[in-house]
Parts: sequence; structure tokens; C-alpha cells
Amino acid sequence: MGRKGLFIDYEYCTGCHTCEVACKQENNYPAGRWGIKVNEIILESFNKVEINYLPFPTELCNLCAARIKGGELPACVKHCQASCMKYGDLTDLVQAMEHKAKTVLFAPK
Ligand code: SF4
Ligand code: SF4
Repeated sequence: MGRKGLFIDYEYCTGCHTCEVACKQENNYPAGRWGIKVNEIILESFNKVEINYLPFPTELCNLCAARIKGGELPACVKHCQASCMKYGDLTDLVQAMEHKAKTVLFAPK
């Protein structure tokens, strides 16, 4: 079985923070601990402002191992409001990246 990971298409991330909340509830993390954190990145050039939201899995993310064992999707993927997160084999996720800009991959050991 190959390595697994999370694919995030941040072009469509709305910054709703639902993935953060879903992860916290799934793992019962206290205040201040996060399995995933949504970062707001503001880029300014001349008279144009671009705002991107980039969800960043932390070192606490174990790709929802217990849920996967039970045949479920990771909590963040299941509850993402924009369906812009995917869980799967890294080889498949890398292929998906080849066809789409503004994407990131997360693959813990
Ligand atoms: S895969 Fe699970 S542990 Fe990792 S960020 Fe998503 S909800 Fe949290
Ligand atoms: S739930 Fe989806 S749309 Fe909302 S912040 Fe997380 S990745 Fe972005």
C-alpha cells in the first residue's frame, strides 16, 4: 500500500475554518492545539489586493488513521464546505496537481 496524503485546492478554499473545527472535534484538541490551521495570506501589488486562504495541516495530523481504518474519510475532508480537500494515494494526488494551479500536498511520514 502506497503513502497517503491530503490534497488541498486552495483556489476554492473560502477560509470558512470548518476543517479546523472538524479536526478539533474529531481529536478532542483543547484550545490552542490544531491538527490543521487555516492561514490568511494577503498579497498587495499596486492597486490590487489578493487574499488566499491556505489550510496547513500540523504535526498533530495523523490523517485521521482511526477514521480511515473504519472506512471513513478524514474529518476535515468530509466536512470541507467547498469540497476542495481530497484524501488518497500520493501518486494519484500528484497527478491531480499536474492539472490544477494553486494546490498543495501534505504527506506525513
Ligand atoms: S486528516 Fe484528520 S487529523 Fe489531519 S487535519 Fe484532517 S481532520 Fe485533522
Ligand atoms: S473547510 Fe474547506 S473551504 Fe473551509 S477553510 Fe477548510 S479547506 Fe477551506
